[in-house]
Amino acid sequence: MFESLSSKIDKALKTLKGQGKITEINVASTVKEIRKALIDADVNYKVAKSVTDSIREKALGREVLIAVSPGQLLVKIVSEELTELMGGTKEDINTKGDPAVILIAGLQGSGKTTFSAKLASFLKKQNKNVLLAACDIYRPAAIDQLKVLGEQVGVEVYSEPENKNAVQIAKNAIEHAKKNNKKIVIVDTAGRLAIDEQMMKEIEEVKASVKPSETLFVVDSMTGQDAVNTAKTFNERLNFDGVVLTKLDGDTRGGAALSIRAVVDKPIKFISTGEKMEALDLFYPDRMAQRILG
Ligand code: GDP
Repeated sequence: MFESLSSKIDKALKTLKGQGKITEINVASTVKEIRKALIDADVNYKVAKSVTDSIREKALGREVLIAVSPGQLLVKIVSEELTELMGGTKEDINTKGDPAVILIAGLQGSGKTTFSAKLASFLKKQNKNVLLAACDIYRPAAIDQLKVLGEQVGVEVYSEPENKNAVQIAKNAIEHAKKNNKKIVIVDTAGRLAIDEQMMKEIEEVKASVKPSETLFVVDSMTGQDAVNTAKTFNERLNFDGVVLTKLDGDTRGGAALSIRAVVDKPIKFISTGEKMEALDLFYPDRMAQRILG
C-alpha cells in the first residue's frame, strides 16, 4: 500500500537524519521533497501545500530536544500532520434506530455490493441482527451477487426482482425488518459508471424516504483525484456521513486516503483491502500515517 509515497517520504526524511540540527535551509528542502511526494501520490495541490507548510512551521518552531535528532523529530511531526490530515481519530458509524438504516452509495464498480455484504458480516459478528436490502434495480446481476454474498456471510437478503422502484423496495425492506426483528438494514443502491442526474435523484429520494442513521459513500481508491471529485459531488447531493475507501490492496498511490477528509470534511470510516469478505478494516488515521511512514 502506497509504496512509492512511502519510499519518497523516507528518502526526503533521510537527508535530515545525518544533520546535527534543524535549520531553515535543511527543513525547506525536506519539506519541498515531501510536498512533491504527496503531489505525485495524487494529493490535491492545495492540501499538499497546507500540510507541508504546517510541517515546516512546527519543525522550525519546536525546540529540538537533545535526545531527539532532527530526523526523528521530523518523522514525528510528519506523522502527526498526516494523522491530522486524515481526520485525527477513528470515527464509528451510527447504528441507532429501530431498525437503523445504513445507506450505501457510490459509482458502479466502486465496490458497494461487496462492501454491503462485508459490513453485514462485520455487524453480525457484533451480534447485530442484520438485513441486506438489494436496491440496485438496474443491474439484475447485482441482486444475485448480493444474494450469493449474503448467503456466504449468513445474512438474509431482501429483494424484489420485478420491482423497479428503489424507494418502494427500501421501504418494504424496512417493514420486513420490523416484522422479523432485524435491527439494522443495509441498503445497497444502484450506481452508474459516471455521475448522472437520474442516479442522484433516485438516491436522494431513497435517502429522504428511509431516513438513514448512516449514509456511507463507497469509492475506489485507485481512481486518485477522481475519487476526491466524485466524493465532493456525492456529498453536495447526499450530505453523507462517512467514506469507505476500497481496493487499497491494489497499486493505489494514496491521494484519495490523504485528501478526502480535507476536501470533503467527512471521515473515512472503513477501508477495504480485497475481494474476500474478511478484507475490511476500520480506518485509523494514526495507523495509516504509520504505514505511510514505513
Ligand atoms: P458495485 O458495482 O459498486 O456494487 O461494485 P462491486 O461490489 O460489484 O465490486 C466491483 C468489483 O470490485 C468486484 O469484482 C469486486 O470483487 C471488486 N472489489 C470490491 N472491493 C474490492 C477491494 O477492496 N479490493 C479488490 N481488489 N477488489 C475489490
